[in-house]
Amino acid sequence: MTKVIKFGGSSLASAEQLEKVLGIVKTDRTRRFVIVSAPGKRHADDTKVTDALIAYHAAYKAGKSVAKEQDWVVERYRDIAEGLGLKDEDVLRDIAYNIHELASLEKTGNDFLYDTFLAAGENNNAKLIAAYFRENGIPARYVHPRDAGITVSREPGNARLLTNSYEKINYLNQLTEAGETLVIPGFFGVTEKDEICTFSRGGSDITGSIIAAGVKADLYENFTDVDGIFACNPKIIDNPAPIHEVTYREMRELAYSGFSVLHDEALVPAFRAHIPIVIKNTNNPKHPGTRITTIHEENYAPVVGIASDDGFTTLNLSKYLLNREVGFGRRVLSILEEMGVRWEHMPTGIDDISIIIRSRFLTPDIEKAILSRLAETLHPDELYFEHDLSIIMLVGENMKAHIGVTARAAKALSDSHVNIKMLTQGASECAVMFVVKNKDEESAVKALYQTFFW
Ligand code: ASP
Repeated sequence: MTKVIKFGGSSLASAEQLEKVLGIVKTDRTRRFVIVSAPGKRHADDTKVTDALIAYHAAYKAGKSVAKEQDWVVERYRDIAEGLGLKDEDVLRDIAYNIHELASLEKTGNDFLYDTFLAAGENNNAKLIAAYFRENGIPARYVHPRDAGITVSREPGNARLLTNSYEKINYLNQLTEAGETLVIPGFFGVTEKDEICTFSRGGSDITGSIIAAGVKADLYENFTDVDGIFACNPKIIDNPAPIHEVTYREMRELAYSGFSVLHDEALVPAFRAHIPIVIKNTNNPKHPGTRITTIHEENYAPVVGIASDDGFTTLNLSKYLLNREVGFGRRVLSILEEMGVRWEHMPTGIDDISIIIRSRFLTPDIEKAILSRLAETLHPDELYFEHDLSIIMLVGENMKAHIGVTARAAKALSDSHVNIKMLTQGASECAVMFVVKNKDEESAVKALYQTFFW
């Protein structure tokens, strides 16, 4: 049995948190691969080390003095090390050197400068944690992503794993078979030209999933600061029901529309390698958490969660006998493509098409240009944008085995006087999506929660 275990920033923010982490790794010696984030916030007003590194990078780029920023970051690690009573002074010296050295990197023409600054947060934390483990009875080794075989594409801030990396990652098993626990910094890899390149923000989850797939782990445990995933946003529903089990597909739907416990790119490597994931709480490790698996037991509830997200706009277009015009849809989409606008969903009727777009990808000028291009090329009868919309997702793979789920949902919404603007369900029957006005989002979620979880 081999487990890959990943700790997020809040689990590693202080000496006190690291003591919990040590306890978690020590109580289960199959936890051989430990992936770590940079130290996160100790309290709501604190600064994450990654954000402090962003400020450091900005000052360095602008040619300003960087002493204050450097000291702040080094002090964070020193504070943790002192709180732990770490004896290995070389580690802290190495961390301080590494943080200062960032301000000697080439600025001009260096596409990876920003990524190198950010990656220092996890990289130095991994060194510190490995030393702490060693002093407390765990034979731990710090492994840089370069040595772990995490080779990525040359896309700063948005690295993708090169698929031939998995073979090299698999060699890590030889180290753990010799009894070692490996501590690997999350969030970044190394390009074929040896540049440091990060995944997108929150990307340590992705590293954990990649390592789990590479070493063919039996389980990927993702430790955070909540007892797993809840059936609904706790900001809308007090004490929502916990979700004990969710499939990868359901998780993807939930994450898409507002559940942000796990980075959405982190699902893919584990999913392809058939490795279950469990989300657990560092502050409450006995809680079973939420398990992400391939399929549910047969009798699982039809709806596992309700997610919602605002900030959507629809582009609505009607034309009489539209269904007879070959290539109509392609022409609409190619105009969006020309404008560099991505779309999310496309509900259609006989004579109309609506395209749901995230509002942040539109500006008044872009909208004007889209409307005029569509009007001149397709001559629609009606054409307009509608703003301030939210989507509500009712998610559950077992919906397909139940009749009347959408009917119950629609009744709940109508009883709460929520006007459904659009409604779609894909062939996979994993989620039903309702589009409503922003102002109705909360009442819609409450009505659905009461129907399916009370
Ligand atoms: N430290 C990085 C961030 O704040 C990555 C992570 O924590 O997963 O985005």
